[in-house]
Parts: sequence; structure tokens; C-alpha cells
Amino acid sequence: MAEKEAVKVIVRCRPFSEKEKAGGHSCIVEINRELATVAIHDPRTNSGPGAAHSAVDPPKNFTFDSVFDWTSHQIDVYNRTARPIVESVLNGYNGTVFAYGQTGTGKTFSMEGVRDVPDLRGIIPNAFEHIFSHIKHSSASTQYLVRASYLEIYNEDILDLLNPKAGKLELKERADVGVYVKDLRTFVIKDVEEMDRLMTFGNKNRSVGATEMNARSSRSHSIFTITVEASDKVDKKGGEDDDGRIRAGKLHLVDLAGSERQSKTGATGDRLKEATKINLSLSALGNVISALVDGKSSHIPYRLLQDSLGGNAKTLMIATLSPASYNYDETLSTLRYANRAK
Ligand code: ADP
Ligand code: MG
Repeated sequence: MAEKEAVKVIVRCRPFSEKEKAGGHSCIVEINRELATVAIHDPRTNSGPGAAHSAVDPPKNFTFDSVFDWTSHQIDVYNRTARPIVESVLNGYNGTVFAYGQTGTGKTFSMEGVRDVPDLRGIIPNAFEHIFSHIKHSSASTQYLVRASYLEIYNEDILDLLNPKAGKLELKERADVGVYVKDLRTFVIKDVEEMDRLMTFGNKNRSVGATEMNARSSRSHSIFTITVEASDKVDKKGGEDDDGRIRAGKLHLVDLAGSERQSKTGATGDRLKEATKINLSLSALGNVISALVDGKSSHIPYRLLQDSLGGNAKTLMIATLSPASYNYDETLSTLRYANRAK
């Protein structure tokens, strides 16, 4: 079914942190790259990988489109997951890549990565690298225009990270362009360095104060959007060039709020209000993906992304996991959610 192919779900498990290694936490996640399966062991029953599997409490198994373990390299993740989506964006289609998972499991590492270390660059910088190398090698008769915008959804307010003074922006809808964010700035990007400067600037606006940074990014969604317009020059009879067919593709790169429960964050008051809203948005997103899979894409609630979900658009969800036993509940919940999105 075409709808089914439009949504891919992959799982990536990060390595243990130094602190976790020192803490002697056991690994409860087993990844089989060939079979694309993930098994999770309940640490309360003591049956970790390697241990004889207890017949009364076997590990829980899940199958995805691809799985990546702690040894995976950023470029392999890019090539296997985002590259085909970027290819289709270059051909004028829309696409969306989401990172979903508990805070601290590698959403930002996967989407953005460590931009000043070439091997550690994530999907966003690799997508730009790919786009600009495609443009460089394409025929001189095709002209490209690449633009980017970067926004944050915090407490259901939409903020322009590239123009923070604008304050809260509004979601609007028009018959000709569909759903859009009114007054959101878009910047023309000429090379990877420009993208890099833009991201650094946007991230600075995301952090209210240094210590707030992590807390805030775990409670907000960020969406980096790239649009690529290509126009083929057509030779007219008089020898004059004219803009011919124009293709426009849009790619949303979404770093979702942490998926952890309210109970674990110890939320009260305003924090609880935020957590509730995040979960609402996440379940809306869940509805989108299940709607796509069921082929009922007419009831798409996640309005902002609707032009890049369903139809000809390709959607990829990267579910990120921790390998450690103390995250069992969150990891299982992420796997179940990811499994539903397939
Ligand atoms: P999230 O955005 O989901 O909250 P981060 O991306 O900030 O999580 O990752 C938390 C920490 O784990 C960071 O220090 C990050 O560099 C590290 N990390 C995450 N995934 C990986 C990975 N696959 N390989 C190496 N380090 C990782
Ligand atoms: Mg993050």
C-alpha cells in the first residue's frame, strides 16, 4: 500500500554515557541489525541479554524498517534514512523527519549532531551538504533556490528562532498556500556555512539562560524547514531564456519534546500545564501517523506539518532509546509508540 510506504520508522539506541558506565547500569536493549529487530528485557526479572531467557518473562520484541545500535555512525544513519527523503525533496516532493524519544536519548544528536565535528554531524547538516552537492553537480540549465526557517513550539506558542523579537506567531490557512506560520522569516541559503551560522543563531535564541537550555529543549518542539525550488530554463525560439517548470519541495526536520511522562519529571503547576500540552501535541502527531497508515489522511490534526505528511510526502520517524536498565519504562513506551506509527 502506498500509504504504508510513505511512513518509515527506525530505532536508534545511544551508547552508555560515562556516568552510566561508572554507575554500573546494565544494558537491557538488544539490537539485531540484519533482522531490524529490537528486544527489550525487563530488568526486574533479571533476564538481560546474554542471560538465559526466562520462559515466564521473555523479552519483548519489535520489528522496524531499520534499527541502529550504539556503534552506528551519523553518515550511515543519514544514508539509510534521510537521504531518500532529501532526494525526493530535490524532485519537488515534501517530506518530514521526526525524532521522538525520552530526553537524553539522542534526538538532537541525530537531527543536528555536533556540527563542528565532521563525523558527528547529524541529519540537518548532512541534508544541506547533500542538497548543495546535488546543486553543484546538476545541469547549468536548472536554477535552485534553497531557503530555511527555524521555529520552536513551546507551550503551543510558535516562536521564530531566527527572529525572536517577533514574539508569538500565528498559524494561518489560505486556500492557495495551505497552512502556514504568519510572519515566519525564511532565509535564502547559499552554502553549508550559511546554514551553520543560521542554526547557531537560532539555537542561541532557544536558550533563555544556560541552565534553562536543557529543561526547555526537553519541553519544546523545534522545526527546521528547508525548501528547495528548482526551475528549468527553457530555450525559447528567440534564443531568450525563460523560467520553465518550477518544482518546489519542502522538508521539515522536527526535534520533538521529550516523550517522558509527567510523573518522572515531577511536574507541578506550570510545568504540569506544559507537560500536558506536549503530550497533547504528541498524541496529535500519533494520530497523524496512524491516520496515514490507515489511509485516513483526511483528518490530520497536526496542521502545521500537513502539507508534508501523506500523499506523495515521505515521512520518517526516528525513535531514540537509552540502553540502560533504569530507563526501562520509558524505553518500552517509546518502542510501543514507534511500533504503532509503522
Ligand atoms: P535529546 O535531544 O534526546 O534530549 P541528546 O541528543 O542531547 O538527547 O543526547 C544526550 C547525550 O547523549 C548527548 O551528550 C549526546 O551527545 C549523547 N548521544 C546521544 N546519542 C548518541 C549516539 N548515538 N552516539 C554518541 N553519543 C550520543
Ligand atoms: Mg534535545
